[in-house]
Amino acid sequence: MGYEKLLLQGIPFSRLLLGPETEVQLSDLAGNAMSVSVVCATMLAAICAPQLRRERSRSPGVSLESFRVTQKHDAVDGGVLAERGDLYDCMDVEMDQRDFSDVFRHVTKGMAEKSYRSSVLCTCESSGATAKEPKILECTDCGVCICHDCSSRHRIGSHALKEINVCTESGRPDPHVFERELRCAVPPLLRLGKGWEHSVEDAMGMESYGFQLQQVDRKRGHWELIYGAWEDFGSSRQVAEIRVVIGRTGTLDRDLGVAAYLRCFAPAIRHSNPQRGPLFPHARLILKLSKLQEPPRWEIPSQQKKSVLKIVGSSPGPSQRVQVGLTDEAAKSFRNYKVTKQYIPRVQSRNNLIQYHGNWKTWPSTLDISGDITGLVNGKYQRLSCEQTVVHSALWRRAGSGGRPTLYLLFRPDVLRSGLDTAVICATPSYRDGHEVCELHDWIPENALETTAHQTKAKFKEWEKAPSHLKVEVLSPTVLMNMKEESFHDQVCSGTIETSRATLCELNGLSRGVVDSLLEHNESSGNEAVTELDLVGRSRARNGKRLSIVAAPSLLKYAAEGKLPLEFSKWYRLPTFWSFGDCQLHVPTRPVEKWRAAYGRKVKFERFYDPEESNEYYQVSFSTRSSENALGMSVLTASFAETSSSSSCLSS
Ligand SMILES: [Zn+2]
Ligand SMILES: [Zn+2]
Repeated sequence: MGYEKLLLQGIPFSRLLLGPETEVQLSDLAGNAMSVSVVCATMLAAICAPQLRRERSRSPGVSLESFRVTQKHDAVDGGVLAERGDLYDCMDVEMDQRDFSDVFRHVTKGMAEKSYRSSVLCTCESSGATAKEPKILECTDCGVCICHDCSSRHRIGSHALKEINVCTESGRPDPHVFERELRCAVPPLLRLGKGWEHSVEDAMGMESYGFQLQQVDRKRGHWELIYGAWEDFGSSRQVAEIRVVIGRTGTLDRDLGVAAYLRCFAPAIRHSNPQRGPLFPHARLILKLSKLQEPPRWEIPSQQKKSVLKIVGSSPGPSQRVQVGLTDEAAKSFRNYKVTKQYIPRVQSRNNLIQYHGNWKTWPSTLDISGDITGLVNGKYQRLSCEQTVVHSALWRRAGSGGRPTLYLLFRPDVLRSGLDTAVICATPSYRDGHEVCELHDWIPENALETTAHQTKAKFKEWEKAPSHLKVEVLSPTVLMNMKEESFHDQVCSGTIETSRATLCELNGLSRGVVDSLLEHNESSGNEAVTELDLVGRSRARNGKRLSIVAAPSLLKYAAEGKLPLEFSKWYRLPTFWSFGDCQLHVPTRPVEKWRAAYGRKVKFERFYDPEESNEYYQVSFSTRSSENALGMSVLTASFAETSSSSSCLSS
């Protein structure tokens, strides 16, 4: 059977140099082979076979070639359909709504300052902690922030660090407390108002989608909220997002505020000619603390202008390669290395992409940019000394004066490394802020010192005021939580071990679509009214994701408002009859560690185990446990017919 097994793996045995191997050895050889083409063919067969069988039962002569993998009601070539939106049926129903900019003006006034103070201001804070040291230093050139404690462990010589004041009398705000405050203050559900589909081409169909608050993140200098819109109540693709930044909306920007960016994914998810690479916002709204009196207005990108700039460099200084210590040896070995043709990037460029530039050791310290008719980016840019905190340590600044804003020339990296990094002129010293003014085509700093390469093509990105009727609406939540009088702890204590299925919370008012979406991967237990969600078994990943999209946003908001009958940051005393941690079902005893002596020249001890026992511990006890969860979630659909409401419970 060895030959046959090799053949099944797609390995032609007749072409192998085989000797007197036994059948068993050939079998092993085939068994150890991992042939990707065969694995893929098997997967394809598994995908196609059920459909083929269904089609054959209708007409026996049907051929595989007439099949195509398509998605459910996907007639518009991957486009976004209004019918798949969660608000499609209730478009005409008058909903209680407020305006996004009104709500967020209040948020700006009350929370922008606190948001900045509680944000991540040093690398040591990125995992949720707040630096012990209240003294925070900031580079006035590149905007890097570091606490006084960490500054002794990093190379900070190249930065112009200055102490900034981020403390109140009581120190900096606790980020965990602030997160709860923020969740209470911001709306959980948004919708695009009327008119977006006509004004923004890529927003086609988006007016019938609701945007749910999906994430609240503590970032550098600000907090970020992400609202997501999904097809088919969270069971299909994500089609758009609104990102809201609260605190510092740009690096080094002293004027705090809120910035909201709308991105429609339609160009990236359509089937024909999809857009690849970064997706730029389709609309933005910027609210600043100093300008709260002005009426807020959404902005949309205006027609892209192209132009040719003249960039002349002078007073050469060391390039980044010299700064990191590369020598002629490196350049020489690149020159001598022959690159296989297939690995040469298929990118048109005036610079050699495989070897160092002839002048690789020098970069200009001053750049003189001219040729912009509007005069926006013209002027002298000085190189800043900051090393390692900006891409390629390349940062030039034009100081602002006489109404002209400060501008920076820096690189936006192609993080996938599938294209060239792009030089951009920005209003802030970080490409992450997205405040780009113009993008240079195929430019590296060495070009500024070559007379033949002074002319550079540039694309300008400008924003114009959106029509004033374009609004984002804040919807009042349709999902309500039943307030419980009795605290969860009392409920648990009053039960017995057998009947202690206390309900932690109950959400009412989930729409039919949401309930169907939640139940899609669950088998009903026979009792139609109650369906326990499978959160530990086969469909746990799918159900978990679905829950996090449709039910978690409202649940988390209520939790932040303190409406749950249980405080998560408090320790409760368990009832005396509960022997927590002793339950053989949830915490089975591990197999005992066994050692035996092996007698040789020296006595050695080695560990041994009983496979049966080990299997029992890891597999069997886990599967019995899944039917008896410590924490579960179920959907009650009984009341649907009469009251058209449904609820989901988290019970313990
Ligand atoms: Zn630190
Ligand atoms: Zn710096």
